[in-house]
Amino acid sequence: MNLLSRAAAGERLEREELLQLYRLPLPEVASVAHELRLKRSNPRVVTYLIDRNINYTNICTVACNFCAFYRTRRQADAYVLSFEEIGRKIEELMRIGGRRILMQGGVNPDLPFEWYLELLRYLKTHYPEVRIDAFSPEEILGLEKLTGRDCEELLTELKEAGLDGLPGAGGEILVDEVRAKAAPARIKSRDWFRILDTAQRLGLYTIATMVIGFGETYEQRVEHLLQIRAQQDKALREYGQGFAAFAMWTLQTEHTRLKGKAPGATAHEYLRQLAIARIALDNIPNLQASWPTLGFKVAQVALYYGANDFGSTMLEENVVSVAAGHNRTHATVRQIVRHIADAGFTPAERDPYYNILRYPDVEAVLAEKPPTPLPLA
Ligand code: SF4
Repeated sequence: MNLLSRAAAGERLEREELLQLYRLPLPEVASVAHELRLKRSNPRVVTYLIDRNINYTNICTVACNFCAFYRTRRQADAYVLSFEEIGRKIEELMRIGGRRILMQGGVNPDLPFEWYLELLRYLKTHYPEVRIDAFSPEEILGLEKLTGRDCEELLTELKEAGLDGLPGAGGEILVDEVRAKAAPARIKSRDWFRILDTAQRLGLYTIATMVIGFGETYEQRVEHLLQIRAQQDKALREYGQGFAAFAMWTLQTEHTRLKGKAPGATAHEYLRQLAIARIALDNIPNLQASWPTLGFKVAQVALYYGANDFGSTMLEENVVSVAAGHNRTHATVRQIVRHIADAGFTPAERDPYYNILRYPDVEAVLAEKPPTPLPLA
């Protein structure tokens, strides 16, 4: 059997075999990726989540070269949201039926650990039905440095205070040589895995991420995928749960110090990498299409290159959109449902664990008058 036939049969491909996929015709690689997607997830359905992003502070000391979101504490537009402001953003989400927030910020040394615990307790007291996935591995590492305590203790206390999961942001390419060029002070790959492994052991929700376009080699991309796959094997074997999904997008540099210094990635490269991820990650059933970086049209095509999920509404996505210089800060349910249905799939609203909550009435959703944009608090 040739390489693609073995992949289509579900055989695990190793490093050299995965590297060969970059040299094969894209339609053939995509065809296998789509076949595997149909086998590993509900073949008729494409899922989506109603949620919102909340960036509680933009003050950050890490100063990644690819970030246009962060500020130093002295800049005029540096901020920390109050608990009440965060609460108002949650109320906006609840008005459109969402029950999950993805809350991240910079590494702000002025916020003590108790601030995070108090915030979680405040949110769980006032909005007990809302799930909180918050604080990337970079923020947890910042808290380790701030408190001198290890992540197991910190995550245990955060969980007790109301934390449900950790976004796997900050994965980019988990090869330190790539990370050192893009962001010298960025969390090292060893720490990224250490913190997410601890979170998985403690029963917290996690997802795996990848960003392409730093000028990384194919070998480095494959190394990233193999490390994610190995962590997932370990987590499933030892903790009975691992990454709920894999999300990948392309580097955005328009308003960052990397502008003109990193090549970024075209839609073609994105689609090939997505297809290879679907083939490589035989232990993660859910792969997201990325509408925030490549737009709805490429995201629709991605549904035939290995993705089975359209991501989420992400009300107020600030980090990627600011770096890119576009205003795709959120999607409406109507836009998501329309693009999934138009691509030939049944839209299904899900929870963060990919359990289906409901099948929207597509005709009714499309017949709705497009909502006026939410006034964001
Ligand atoms: S990407 Fe995150 S860690 Fe890096 S500078 Fe921006 S806010 Fe800070």
